[in-house]
Amino acid sequence: MSDFARSRLGLTGSVFAAVARWLDALRGSTGCFFTFHRGAPGEIWSGLPNRNFYLDLAFLDSLLSHLKASGRNIVTVEEGRRLAADSTTSEQFVNFSIDDCYRDTYELVLPVFRRHGVPVTLFVTTGIPDATLPLYWAGLEDILRSQDTIVLGGKVIDIRAMDQKAWAYQALQTLWDGPMLDAHYRHFCSENGIDEEQIFMRHAITWDMLSELARDPLVEIGSHTVAHRRISTLSPEAAWHEMADSRQRLREKLGVPANHFAFPYGRMNDCGPRDFAIAREVGYESAGTTTKGLLRAGPVPYAYPRITLNGAHRNILVPEFHLSGASSIAAKVLGRV
Ligand SMILES: [Zn+2]
Repeated sequence: MSDFARSRLGLTGSVFAAVARWLDALRGSTGCFFTFHRGAPGEIWSGLPNRNFYLDLAFLDSLLSHLKASGRNIVTVEEGRRLAADSTTSEQFVNFSIDDCYRDTYELVLPVFRRHGVPVTLFVTTGIPDATLPLYWAGLEDILRSQDTIVLGGKVIDIRAMDQKAWAYQALQTLWDGPMLDAHYRHFCSENGIDEEQIFMRHAITWDMLSELARDPLVEIGSHTVAHRRISTLSPEAAWHEMADSRQRLREKLGVPANHFAFPYGRMNDCGPRDFAIAREVGYESAGTTTKGLLRAGPVPYAYPRITLNGAHRNILVPEFHLSGASSIAAKVLGRV
């Protein structure tokens, strides 16, 4: 991108920010909760078969600079919910949460937030540091990214081109979907001579890493279940265990209260009123979804909206579009909530 185009983009982002702040001053505080999963340096990002799942770290860096320069307050979930309930402030605030938590949360993403001196919330899936989840999605992507061919049912398939890797990633996820998914992944690893454990270690965050992060005053730790199950599909007992056991594990291992919870997948079909009631019963103070929306000043809903940042959108205008509330309106009109 040329310097001219970049400065025009920056100017448009600033105009968006100024209009959003002016509108918020009229109607009280507005909170936007952004969530994402992973981060990657730009040179690796472009070669990832599932790159929408990752934020380009350079983009994250420029987004944090932009939010600070435009006067947005970057806060924890705890602080954001307190600000939203306070009718005397017209502050515009933003929260960032990282769901699941992988090794790159510790190695690559936290340093960006630390450099800016702003907080971040980690919603941890405890089966990752406990090594009870095979992390097939991370392993599959790693294998496809690093190989020119794969073996499937005895046949060798060429995946040299980027679009072949992306296609293979989607096709295999669809093919394996169902209760035998982990077994399919294990078979795929053995057919391709892959050391599943070694690949797991490259992606999983550890309890030692999380302990260090939990001591950082910029880090807020929340829970994101034990096994990343779609809560709405579980029996009440199983749903309760996913929520309660992960909180208990975080308390035991990290000594943190883990007062906030985020639902895996998080859209309307993935969690509902029954599940919000269970989260309350377990003792969480809030439950994050991924329905699009902003928190306006006034009564704060227990289950609150979070906006997933898609890694493919590497332009300041996209988060500004979310912060203006326009994406929430568009999602409601299109029924994509
Ligand atoms: Zn998740």
